[in-house]
Amino acid sequence: MLNEKLYQIIPSEVCFSCDVCCRFLEEDSPLAPIFTSDEKEYFISQGADLSVFRSREDGKSSQIKLIPSKDFYICPFFETGTNKCSIYANRPLDCKLYPFVLMSNEDRSGVVLGIDMLCPYSEKYFETDVFQHHLQSIIDYVETDDVMDIIATHPCLIGAYQDTVKVFHTLNQDLHYAPPSSNA
Ligand code: SF4
Ligand code: SF4
Repeated sequence: MLNEKLYQIIPSEVCFSCDVCCRFLEEDSPLAPIFTSDEKEYFISQGADLSVFRSREDGKSSQIKLIPSKDFYICPFFETGTNKCSIYANRPLDCKLYPFVLMSNEDRSGVVLGIDMLCPYSEKYFETDVFQHHLQSIIDYVETDDVMDIIATHPCLIGAYQDTVKVFHTLNQDLHYAPPSSNA
């Protein structure tokens, strides 16, 4: 697990009253969170059932299996009554980064960082100085050796290009992975 903290720019109260994260339209959504091998091992050691994870094609990453909840499918760690993540302090890197997104660029020639404009807070505040300043801290965090090593060994963390994501940086390192062309 990574020791370095990632500052969260979106206030918790905003997320607790938002209905976007942790809920998905499809049971097999490719946007369901990815866990690294260390993250999965940690939750297994804490008593999580191995069957909540499905292996991904890079051989290291696992994706959480979503469960039905009313009209959606939710992450099994999501608490519908409070809108809280039951593993928040140890949630996977994939979730810690959101609304920042690691994905393939449109022509699949490189890996970029972007911000998902489906996040209402990001859409509203993206142009502010505070938010723009925060982008550099996200770039710096992702480009640390530790995080880049994790991405290199878990290329399934690199999602497919999404046109709702505003790209703000191309990663410096060459990462060899070509995810499917659509996350739909
Ligand atoms: S979409 Fe944005 S505001 Fe809503 S819960 Fe997710 S991070 Fe928070
Ligand atoms: S692990 Fe937590 S933050 Fe991530 S999708 Fe599940 S409930 Fe949401």
